[in-house]
Amino acid sequence: MNFTYIVCVYPIEKAACQCPDFLTRGIACKHLRAAILYINWMRQQPNNSHLPEIKLPTQKEIQEEILISKFYFLYLFLLLLFIYLIIN
Ligand SMILES: [Zn+2]
Repeated sequence: MNFTYIVCVYPIEKAACQCPDFLTRGIACKHLRAAILYINWMRQQPNNSHLPEIKLPTQKEIQEEILISKFYFLYLFLLLLFIYLIIN
């Protein structure tokens, strides 16, 4: 079975993936590592030196990112519930 995960990386030590390894174990998963390797390889190619160097985030930074995303989904859920209650 194939799954698609969206990986987000930022030059300021932030990164996120949607896979269970990242979300439940809070580790830099294989998707995140592959994305960082690819971006840093692209950075070494001609005319791509403007791309920022991406560093692997620490486990603490990953935990913070997971916490932020959980609050974001809770906020989104409450907002949708509020809109639903107003409409009905
Ligand atoms: Zn992943």
